[in-house]
Order: sequence, then structure tokens, then C-alpha cells
Amino acid sequence: MSVVVANDIRKSFGPLEVLKGVSLNVEAGEVIALIGRSGSGKSTFLRCLNGLETVDSGLIQIAGHAMSRKPAALRELRRDVGIVFQSYNLFPHLTAGENIMLAPVQVKGETKVAARDEAQRCLSMVGLGDRFDAYPDMLSGGQQQRVAIARSLAMRPKVLLFDEVTSALDPELTGEVLAVIEDLARQGMTMLLVTHEMGFARRVADRTIFMKDGIIHEGGPSAEFFTNPRTPELQAFLRSEIG
Ligand code: ADP
Ligand code: MG
Repeated sequence: MSVVVANDIRKSFGPLEVLKGVSLNVEAGEVIALIGRSGSGKSTFLRCLNGLETVDSGLIQIAGHAMSRKPAALRELRRDVGIVFQSYNLFPHLTAGENIMLAPVQVKGETKVAARDEAQRCLSMVGLGDRFDAYPDMLSGGQQQRVAIARSLAMRPKVLLFDEVTSALDPELTGEVLAVIEDLARQGMTMLLVTHEMGFARRVADRTIFMKDGIIHEGGPSAEFFTNPRTPELQAFLRSEIG
């Protein structure tokens, strides 16, 4: 079953057409890496998929539900689509565990007892089972990003979107975050991730997609995609990224 269906998505900001007809299906359990130069539309595409941006035309379906502009339907759909950004945006006055409990209590109406159990479970999934009571400023950047991932997991999303989640981290902290994502992949989580980590994309993503100027320029199974890029544009991009 397709967890994500995007069909001919178009999106402009004023006169600037950023997405020029993007179509992509993501099957349950699939991991897709999105790569491409800055400004090619990767973030805008992810933001359209969870309703942070409205599309000008095209169809988006998440877990069988069509994206709509109606607030109630949009709220419903957003619960199924977790998104993790480069900046983790944890509340500094709440502990790691409390940050994770917030949305399940406020958005889903879970009891605090249930949300606490769930937050603990999600912290364990990201290797921070013993840091429930830690405040964000006691945690490293990598640990804070793992809390942010746990916060998304607590909503039990059908698909998780990652937008350059390691870009703000020092190199020595990148690995622990990528390891969490790799672990989620092994557990069958459906994921779409924008990344500059070419080695990671090649190893973990089932398929890799190269976006250029608002379209999917080339894409395919990662093994084939990286060993045998077909278009000169992807060849040039990979040369510039891998060096
Ligand atoms: P990427 O993530 O691939 O770097 P983005 O999707 O962030 O690309 O941006 C694509 C283009 O859209 C860029 O030229 C960017 O400046 C523009 N853009 C993104 N968001 C907005 C916005 N809210 N208003 C105006 N222009 C935007
Ligand atoms: Mg971006």
C-alpha cells in the first residue's frame, strides 16, 4: 500500500514556481532519500506533504486520506505525518520527557499517564531511555535532535519526514542521529529524508531521488542510482557532493 501519494504537485511563491509537477509514491516501509542543490524545492515538497504549505495543484494522499484545506481534515492528516527539522525546537523549560508528552496530551487528548509511558518508550527507541528528566540544555545537540525524533514518534505517525536533521550538528554528533534513523528504517518505518549524507542515503535509502529546479530529475533504487547515474546533471551533483 502507498503511504504517500503525491501526484503532479505544483507550488509557486509569487512569480517563483518552486515545484513544477512533482510525483512520488512511497510504499509502506520504504525509505526514500531526497537530494539536490539548495533551492531545488526539497523542503517545500516535504512541507506540502504534511500540510505546512498548501499546494497550487496536484493531489496528495497520506495513508489513503486526501489532503484537504479543511482545518479538521488537515489536523487529522497531520497526525499521520511527522516532520523533523534541522532545528529541534524543544521547549527549554520542559524536560525531554515532558517535551514528548506535550502533543499526545494536547492534540490527541491522551491521559498524562499514557503519554508518560509512551514518551518513555519513544525515548528508549532513540537510545535515551535514561534521560526522561533531563532539560534540553543538559543534552548535546545530537541528543536534543534524538528527543525531537522521539517527540515525532510519540504521535505514532504513518510516515516520518526528515529535513536535513544533521546539518546543524558537529560531525561527531551526526553519526548518533543517523544511527537512530537507520534503526527506524530496520523497524519498518516509512520515511522520506532530505540529506547531504550521500553515504547514508546509499546505504539506508531504498530509493534516492534527485531534485533539480522543482522537478524530480532522476531517481531510482539507491544502489543503481549512485553507481550508475544516468543524467549529466546528477553526475555533476554527485561529483560535487562526494568530491
Ligand atoms: P531546498 O530545500 O531544496 O533548498 P526550498 O524548498 O527551501 O529548497 O526552496 C525552493 C525555493 O523556494 C527557493 O528559491 C526559496 O527561496 C523559495 N522559497 C521557499 N519558501 C518560500 C517562501 N515561504 N516564500 C518565498 N519563497 C520561498
Ligand atoms: Mg531545504
